[in-house]
Amino acid sequence: MPNKTSPANKLLAALPRREYQRLIPRLEEIPLLFEKVLYEPGDSILDVYFPTSGIVSLLAGVEDRATLEVGLVGREGMVGVPIFMGVNTSLNRAVVQGEGSALRMKARVFRKECDNGGPLPGLLRRYMHSMLTQISQSAICNRFHPVDARLARWLLMTRDRMGSDEFQLTQEFLSNMLGTRREGVNKAAGLLQQQHLISYTRGALTILNGAGLEAIACQCYGIIKEEYDYLHSVIGKRRVPSLVGLVGLVGIKSQPYAP
Ligand SMILES: [Zn+2]
Repeated sequence: MPNKTSPANKLLAALPRREYQRLIPRLEEIPLLFEKVLYEPGDSILDVYFPTSGIVSLLAGVEDRATLEVGLVGREGMVGVPIFMGVNTSLNRAVVQGEGSALRMKARVFRKECDNGGPLPGLLRRYMHSMLTQISQSAICNRFHPVDARLARWLLMTRDRMGSDEFQLTQEFLSNMLGTRREGVNKAAGLLQQQHLISYTRGALTILNGAGLEAIACQCYGIIKEEYDYLHSVIGKRRVPSLVGLVGLVGIKSQPYAP
């Protein structure tokens, strides 16, 4: 049963209290189990998910061979954005990368909620901007930056969203995240271990020195984090009063990132 007054998902927490409480019967709390697939490319998306802990990776496939992470969703967001955009399927796979829990809503119910004139779509539009920043910056990162800098960025992004310095990780999963051969990931992870920035034992990764990782990470981490922090500052002001106020804030902040 969802928390009745204070949902851990930040989008839901930013709704007016009465609006959130109205949604509670439409939300079901479920566990996010490690490596569980929430939807596959081409599937009809039947549910949307508001993580309350843990994180979900959005992976793009390349000709049925390799995958590459294009998005990371934690408590600040929602899985199932295509439904919000008016389509029923995605080209991505959504898979749990960090165990936790989520509030699940039927996609058909969610569509109705987005059409009822309430505050939820305004919050989701703001979230979409954050996601687009993450996706576009990830594209640049994957093309131009070396694997050790990308690995450091990814570890820091995961830490920020998990709220923990320790998380489960398999080498195969990491290789899929970064779209890099396993040998390349092993080498980069080995370098980080030699510098005592991380430890990695039997699938458990621990960040030992976050500041050291930040020094190695490419600038993409800072760019994505700035947008992520700003999203938090906006939706962290609990009980967003109206869409008008929110759009005003978005317009001011978005300018530095405009192409
Ligand atoms: Zn980068």
